[in-house]
Amino acid sequence: MKICFATNNVKKIEEVAASLAGQVEIVSLQEIGCQVELPETGDTLEYNAFEKARYVNHHFGVSCFADDTGLEVEALQGEPGVYSGRFAGEPRSDARNMSLLLEKMQGQKHRRARFRTVIALILAGKEYQFEGIAEGKITTELSGEGGFGYDPIFQPLGYNQTFASLTLGEKNEISHRGKAVRALINFLRDGKF
Ligand code: IMP
Repeated sequence: MKICFATNNVKKIEEVAASLAGQVEIVSLQEIGCQVELPETGDTLEYNAFEKARYVNHHFGVSCFADDTGLEVEALQGEPGVYSGRFAGEPRSDARNMSLLLEKMQGQKHRRARFRTVIALILAGKEYQFEGIAEGKITTELSGEGGFGYDPIFQPLGYNQTFASLTLGEKNEISHRGKAVRALINFLRDGKF
């Protein structure tokens, strides 16, 4: 089965392709000839994930899924949440996003946070939704060389290292996107659609 993963993030495609390990062939936006920036105009992860998936499905006629992820920090009432990518403004920068977050968390003892991923799937004209959550905390400084986004300052629950210090396989096992993707895979494997 071939499904387009509606993202321009190469790292994410690598993560998901590793999780799918040959069960489903993932094609990129580039491979279906989609070169535009996908719309993301909502104020919830769910809205944005479906907006992107519907756009690709409508304009390119392929089954596809899109994800939207947010980092929800308890002490900041769920911020940056759906605005995680543009937290420090445009152009988007992981370094500036992390430094703004560390600044807002300065002196804050309560550092609990979670990553939440929503996946919107459009398969043969029907819509489905999946979710994955990774609980953890915001560290006080950057650590680790791997991953992307906020990985160097997010320490998953039960670990002494940040996401950026884990291998791709280790991160996938416990990450928000890994969990959401596994829910998607189980659904596709069951074939009840
Ligand atoms: P998006 O919805 O995937 O575009 O993600 C929104 C923001 O969250 C961006 O700043 C991403 O870099 C960040 N993000 C998404 N997934 C991860 C992750 O697995 N680790 C760290 N940051 C992430």
